[in-house]
Amino acid sequence: MRTRIAPTPSGFLHAGNGAAFVLAHELARQEEGSLLLRIDDLDQERVRPDHVEDVFLTLEWLGITWDNGPRNSMDLASTWSQQHRIVAYHALLRELRMTGNLYACTCSRKEVLDRTGSTEYDGHCRYRGLDLDTPGITWRLKLPAGGKVDMKTWPSGETEKITLDQGDPVLLQRNGRPAYHIASLVDDLRFQMDAIVRGTDLLASTAVQLHIAELLGLPTFNSVRFLHHPLLTDRNGAKLSKSEGSASLRHARENGQGPEAVHVLAAQFLGRYIADTQ
Ligand SMILES: [Zn+2]
Repeated sequence: MRTRIAPTPSGFLHAGNGAAFVLAHELARQEEGSLLLRIDDLDQERVRPDHVEDVFLTLEWLGITWDNGPRNSMDLASTWSQQHRIVAYHALLRELRMTGNLYACTCSRKEVLDRTGSTEYDGHCRYRGLDLDTPGITWRLKLPAGGKVDMKTWPSGETEKITLDQGDPVLLQRNGRPAYHIASLVDDLRFQMDAIVRGTDLLASTAVQLHIAELLGLPTFNSVRFLHHPLLTDRNGAKLSKSEGSASLRHARENGQGPEAVHVLAAQFLGRYIADTQ
């Protein structure tokens, strides 16, 4: 079994991030599998060195060991950064383009919001036939109306149908950079992941990635097992976001707290997951 933890260094990690990492680590160790650390640094302008450093310090504090991936910031920059795999991301986009399922879109986030009152894309450019080679244009994937994909769940191994009911996702950003869906899928294939732990907020993303794998005939990805853990919320029920303040694990670490509370949360994630699937 091969799984990974994939933090994005765009803020200081919080307890929800930490619990997700502990969960992946424990499942990997239980199944005598291997754990990859993948730092999602695709969007370089959002990456800060102290946030990268926070990943390494947090993992050490949590007692998490990983079998593959960078050991420090230098190792990330020289070998493991997603910047080294941009060519592979573009290659997958080209393959996908040949299936005829991509279209060009000129809509800004604000235009979509003004038009629909929602941030979910309305398919405005689907049939406009814009040239995909226009500079500064985004590429979107046509999702089939009412489409569903099969997803294997972990640890049960059962297959579930999940819906593709969402706005057509961006796969190439306006700045010419491949989107998260593509980078994550290519990396999971490259590092031969067969089990993925991620939050329920990424369920729609899982659906898109499984659909892309189907379109391209990538059976290894369609046999990956997924565990979507619940998200931690604050007292008002809002999703936690990476923060500079007292909610960060850095704050806990620097105040001499141990990681026990985060380990308890991870056990609760798994407990709730098992309860949900029974
Ligand atoms: Zn559009």
